[in-house]
Amino acid sequence: MTAQQIPDIKIPADLLPGDGRFGCGPSKVRPEAVRALADRALDYLGTSHRQPGVRSVVGRLRAELAELFSLPEGYEVVLGNGGTTAFWDAATFCLIEERSQHLSFGEFSSKFAAAAAAAPHLKDPEVIESAAGTHPEAVARDDVDLYALTHNETSTGVMMQLTRPPGSSGLVAVDATSGAGGLRFDASQVDVYYFAPQKCFASDGGLWVAAYSPAAVERIERTASSGRWVPASLDLAVALDNSRKDQTYNTPALATLFLFVDQVEWMLGNGGLEWAASRSDASADHLYSWAEGADYASPFVSDPAERSRVVGTVDLDESIDAPTISKVLRANGIVDTESYRKLGRNQLRIGMFPAVEPDDVVALTRSIDHVVGQLRG
Ligand SMILES: *Cc1c(COP(=O)(O)O)cnc(C)c1O
Repeated sequence: MTAQQIPDIKIPADLLPGDGRFGCGPSKVRPEAVRALADRALDYLGTSHRQPGVRSVVGRLRAELAELFSLPEGYEVVLGNGGTTAFWDAATFCLIEERSQHLSFGEFSSKFAAAAAAAPHLKDPEVIESAAGTHPEAVARDDVDLYALTHNETSTGVMMQLTRPPGSSGLVAVDATSGAGGLRFDASQVDVYYFAPQKCFASDGGLWVAAYSPAAVERIERTASSGRWVPASLDLAVALDNSRKDQTYNTPALATLFLFVDQVEWMLGNGGLEWAASRSDASADHLYSWAEGADYASPFVSDPAERSRVVGTVDLDESIDAPTISKVLRANGIVDTESYRKLGRNQLRIGMFPAVEPDDVVALTRSIDHVVGQLRG
């Protein structure tokens, strides 16, 4: 569709959200955090990551994430470069001993499964799939040493409760890229909780962070001494060693670290994970009740318990073209409401991370109603 073909609909200013960013990553960065970064333009940006200034930011980040997630005694927070995608590759080298089991229920969860399947040093993983809009359950197996779960499948808007598969002894590793910081969980149920900061943590991409249980640390130490070849930049033992010194193996993006810790401190200062998750709850409660009430919309995920509180997917009636709605919204300054392309549905996808104002989600649905009303004439 060319610009000329986008229906010329102007949403009245009093209906528009205060901030029009509803993307699922990179997602809304709080302007206050950007201003705080600008204030540190002269003494933080452009300084060495091996010196106390930057290292103290990394140290704060590690300690404060442990507090935010209420990590049990002995858990540690580690970080490295390359985002979640690099962490999947690192995990195939350093966390999976022989065989993993993957719950595959969308684009992101399928990717770690593919990385493990492609690794010549591992046995074929067990991949348990379920239809888009649902999630499968893990099944304990004697020959599985790592269970790969996904807290929130960003491509479909499905979230899952994190529990150890009953009777299992393997590590539980959770891709929490879009869930961490916005969804509640019990850290004692997981061994590796990993993510990147461009979603709930309202920062930029390019970094990975992982909270490890003592069992995960032991696994990393064991694979490191097994003689398996590991590229240094993907070596989780190297990352662990550097993180313990509040550093990364190679140079991190200092602005990303700053915005990340600012967001963690914003959450902690207001009441922690419970408060942050409550903001996403308020947004999600509104979005799904609006979708259930509108005659042209419905929540994509049928089980209310699996409907994500941080990434909302809403199907539209076929008489309303969802891509056109997203384009009209974009022309009015409301961006990134498009559904995940490969899902191929007539759908809107709404990021409802803690940084998003719940009132802005209300304004968003009012704006969508206005656009649909105009299109219907
Ligand atoms: C965004 C996302 C990723 C990809 O993260 P990168 O940092 O871009 O590699 C992986 N998993 C989930 C669940 C995501 O939402």
